[in-house]
Amino acid sequence: MRCGNSKVGAFTPCSGCGLDPAAYGTDRELQARSMLLSDRYLPGGELEELGRKLRKGEPVTYDAGLLAQITEELRTQKLPILSRTSSGGSVVLWTAVGAALVLAVALLLMWRLRGF
Ligand SMILES: [Zn+2]
Repeated sequence: MRCGNSKVGAFTPCSGCGLDPAAYGTDRELQARSMLLSDRYLPGGELEELGRKLRKGEPVTYDAGLLAQITEELRTQKLPILSRTSSGGSVVLWTAVGAALVLAVALLLMWRLRGF
């Protein structure tokens, strides 16, 4: 995002300049720019083109509307931020707990509907 080096994942530290978006805990706009500079939002050659510009030190323009949208999604946690202190584990846990609960209720209902 800063030096134009390609990296895997929007929130992984950059091997080129060491910029780590996840370390910018509350800087949603910086994280949104990182997110925008991924093949998720820039498929095809667009991302490479922006990478070339960054490497040459040319100004890069970001889609302001898209940036605002991503910033908002990050703020409302619709997009998971993969950082070392990620809370993703607990989300998976609660999803599993919820699924187990639904399954238990469904089994109970089926058992009752079949009649004693
Ligand atoms: Zn970099």
